[in-house]
Amino acid sequence: MYGPASSHFTVRDFTFGIYDRLLEAITENGYSVQTVAEHLETAEQPEKYVILRHDVDRKVDIARSMARLEAAHGIASTYYFRTSTFDPALAREMAGEGHEVGYHYEELARARGDRDRAHERFEAILESFRDHVDVTTACSHGSPLSRHLNLDMWDEDRPPESYDLLGEAYLSIETDDTDPALASYCSDTGRHWGLVDPTVGTVRTTDDVIALLESDACPRLYILAHPSRWSRSSGEFVERVGWDLAAEIGKQAARPAHRAQHGVTALASSAVQTTALPIRLSRQLTGLSTHDY
Ligand SMILES: [Zn+2]
Repeated sequence: MYGPASSHFTVRDFTFGIYDRLLEAITENGYSVQTVAEHLETAEQPEKYVILRHDVDRKVDIARSMARLEAAHGIASTYYFRTSTFDPALAREMAGEGHEVGYHYEELARARGDRDRAHERFEAILESFRDHVDVTTACSHGSPLSRHLNLDMWDEDRPPESYDLLGEAYLSIETDDTDPALASYCSDTGRHWGLVDPTVGTVRTTDDVIALLESDACPRLYILAHPSRWSRSSGEFVERVGWDLAAEIGKQAARPAHRAQHGVTALASSAVQTTALPIRLSRQLTGLSTHDY
């Protein structure tokens, strides 16, 4: 999955300067930007749209800066917070800017696979978030050192909707890079976007994503950008690259342990029964199990 470290760690990508250009490319090329909640609430989707999502795994300050930068572009997106990154004041600030704040849950891994306990905790934490901000969607966090896939907590009796949620960021949005009717999934996991567009080809760098947006080849995109992967300054860029290298080495060591948790087999074993979901989810899930650190 990962090429030689030099191929994507030495290129100066994932800076705020480049993110600024990405936002500009979205707005200047006629895309409607949707939060996850807006997408789920929209009955008839616009011709061209970008669903913009952020999982705040760490680095809350960078998430704050990213949200402000987007607001300056008139863009609203979704920020998913873990219990470890949730900050009530920031959540309210983001909501005030028009962003959606959601819950980045990891209950099944925390409960070591005990689904009843996972649901109890999920309900309690969701309530505590809702004391501060309106939460209508949730998004599974990949817990790379756990063999439990957090998405597996859901079943037909207890779907996300039973918690007054519009949906779940992985389960409720169908993506398919080869079907123009559905959104292509584009994630910064592993410091490369990893999308293969049928017209444009491999989309690896953020400049490639910008070129894709300008090409008119891909009218529907679901973009996931982790704030912790982006840097606001040169100093932060150097720190960021060092951290990613260290995390890569850690993941290589941990890989056999968590390889089993992701992919079609894991999802098929869950009781979530939605037609054709396993195949369409498989690419999202490949990122899910490796995106955290
Ligand atoms: Zn995460």
